[in-house]
Amino acid sequence: MTKVCRVGLGPADATLFTPGGERASMTAFERRTRRTQSRLGAVGADALALTPGRDWYYLTGVDAEQSDRLQLLVVPTDGDPTLVVPTLEAASVRDAWVEDVRTWDDDDGPWSVLDPLFGSLSPSRLLLADRMWAQYALAVRERLPDADVGLASEVLSPLRRIKDDQAADAAMRDVRTLGADAVGMTEAELTGFVEERLAAHGGTGVAFETIVAAGPNGADPHHTGGDRVIGAGDPVVLDFGTRVDAYPSDQTRTVVFDGEPSAEFRRVHDAVREAQLQGVAAVEPGASAGAVDRAAREVIEAAGYAEAFVHRTGHGVGLDVHEEPDIVAGSETELEPGMVFSVEPGVYLTDRFGVRIEDLVVVTEDGAERLNHTDRRWRG
Ligand code: ZN
Ligand code: ZN
Ligand code: ZN
Repeated sequence: MTKVCRVGLGPADATLFTPGGERASMTAFERRTRRTQSRLGAVGADALALTPGRDWYYLTGVDAEQSDRLQLLVVPTDGDPTLVVPTLEAASVRDAWVEDVRTWDDDDGPWSVLDPLFGSLSPSRLLLADRMWAQYALAVRERLPDADVGLASEVLSPLRRIKDDQAADAAMRDVRTLGADAVGMTEAELTGFVEERLAAHGGTGVAFETIVAAGPNGADPHHTGGDRVIGAGDPVVLDFGTRVDAYPSDQTRTVVFDGEPSAEFRRVHDAVREAQLQGVAAVEPGASAGAVDRAAREVIEAAGYAEAFVHRTGHGVGLDVHEEPDIVAGSETELEPGMVFSVEPGVYLTDRFGVRIEDLVVVTEDGAERLNHTDRRWRG
């Protein structure tokens, strides 16, 4: 059932130029741009326009900040991208792989260059940098009144988040490797370990407050690590994420580090794991968000724990951890390729334990791809 993992950018990621200063045949930044272009086509957009920021860096390799002189990277779905920069910034983009650099002078203003460029592209659907200054976003809309305008994260979020989830997966594996060594640690100590491992694998900070909930604390879906000591046989809910390139990850596993859990815990864990599997299996373009919730919830209902599944099945994830679409009962929101959301059914038994299993998935052309790949069993 494991679909082929999308290939990361690989170790050559940072090698942009050969030692002689000659450009490699295709840089990581150009590869990313080409991949972005095929995604633009898939979502029915004709072009992408980015102001400086993390996405701009991700595609050009040039570090820059927005300023009161408009700088724009314009990536059409077909053909080569164009960098539009003020003449006095031209030197700052000379290391970019983009060959078509057009400059504008203060006398003429940016639209002297952008009007003809947009004129030749005449986009009917255009995606703009999520964090483009409003003054620029409004100016683009004014210049292209007939274009449907969307957000760049629609295409860039699925591409850019691969690495966060690799960092979160690596940290989760490290945590599980503790095994019996985790017994005797407090939740807070384990939280510290989790966060240290996330950083060690390239993450920046946490995407939300790390959840480490042992034994009965697991029955509170948002419990954060306190001074409870993890005991043998205790189920521990681990829900954490970090950011790489600004995009957050979010993953949950419920593990028993050592000792034997109760028979009921095993039954509940089996049901939640199966519910998560069925939820992910229901993801495909054109399906409704409600159908995904239903697929997961039915398994838990059949196991007799309907009342104990107290939250929606999932939430969208973009630059923020909780975004559209909500994977919630009755939602008719239609799933589209490129959407990223969590599938995270859970069962919470007050004063006893909780079980939640969560992965992020991206909707593909013909189904779904999981972004997390660590063991989902209570002991791997
Ligand atoms: Zn939450
Ligand atoms: Zn989570
Ligand atoms: Zn979540």
